[in-house]
Amino acid sequence: MKRVFGLVLVLSMVLVSFTFAASKVRIGLSLPTQREERWVRDRIKMREEAKRLGVDLRVQISDNDAAKQVAQCENLIAQGIQVLILAPHDASSASVIVEKAHKAGIPVISYDRLVLDCEVDVYLSFDNVKVGELQGEYITRLVPKGNYVVLAGSPTDNNAKLFREGAMKYIQPLVDKGQIKIVMDQWVKDWQPAEAQKLMEQALTANKNKIDAVLAPNDGTAGGCIQALAAQGLAGKVPITGQDAELAAAIRIVEGTQSMTIFKDTRLLGAKAIELAIKMAKKESIADQINGKVNNNKIDVPSVLLTPYVVDKSNIDKMLIESGYLKRKQVYKKK
Ligand code: BGC
Repeated sequence: MKRVFGLVLVLSMVLVSFTFAASKVRIGLSLPTQREERWVRDRIKMREEAKRLGVDLRVQISDNDAAKQVAQCENLIAQGIQVLILAPHDASSASVIVEKAHKAGIPVISYDRLVLDCEVDVYLSFDNVKVGELQGEYITRLVPKGNYVVLAGSPTDNNAKLFREGAMKYIQPLVDKGQIKIVMDQWVKDWQPAEAQKLMEQALTANKNKIDAVLAPNDGTAGGCIQALAAQGLAGKVPITGQDAELAAAIRIVEGTQSMTIFKDTRLLGAKAIELAIKMAKKESIADQINGKVNNNKIDVPSVLLTPYVVDKSNIDKMLIESGYLKRKQVYKKK
């Protein structure tokens, strides 16, 4: 009798936990890479939020490989996710993923990077043209004339185009006036720091080290360029931009070898993604969250765009340390 009772108890416990698991919102997350520190932070934040809110979050990383990302997303779709949060490696080919998700009745949040040529449901990112504007404004204010190296991010990433577009609003008028000469204008494959370093070395050689400013699209590529500058004894002498507020960049800003970075608080972005995904899974409206639209060659995608901020030596403590994004003892490690 005791045994039967025990069995019934165990069975009902299994049933209860099974029903609970089944009733959990199930979200898929597909990220392009973990190379840049920011994508690690995005993943950690979303995991934390999912845990806090009792969401079943299933994460895949595609290591800058478009085909792998498609296969991983197909797998997530087969696992019965209710919403897909997708940061595409390749903006165009990822439209296939959106179509496949839609066929299965799953809405897609285009996360940080826009998926082009499809009817993606919502775009959650920062104002990326603004990111470029902040970089362009900063560098042209510091160096209004001279030889410029202009680097853009990966040509497969729509953000790279938006950043460049924003920055050129400030650089191009000075080129037209004859004040600035662009001695190199290149995309950096897959945002690779080593590639940026190689390009910077070429630019230095071709111009006999006469480079006055560098537009680097993010902190990773800035790091590559700074290594090339350092090899010529020029680190800290040539102003250079960045983006992402990576720890390595913050250290370089304090040391004086990188002029600035752009702070995009991935904690806010990650939390917002989970919040939107839960609403979408429950078929609740997210209309009150939309604050813009961005065209993706097919539709004007309803967008939720957060604000990016400039960080340099003058405000790094307030922006990155007091906000808890980075730790003081890590940033000022050499002091
Ligand atoms: C992101 C940047 C990042 C870059 C390389 C862009 O889409 O917006 O924050 O540095 O990709 O991963």
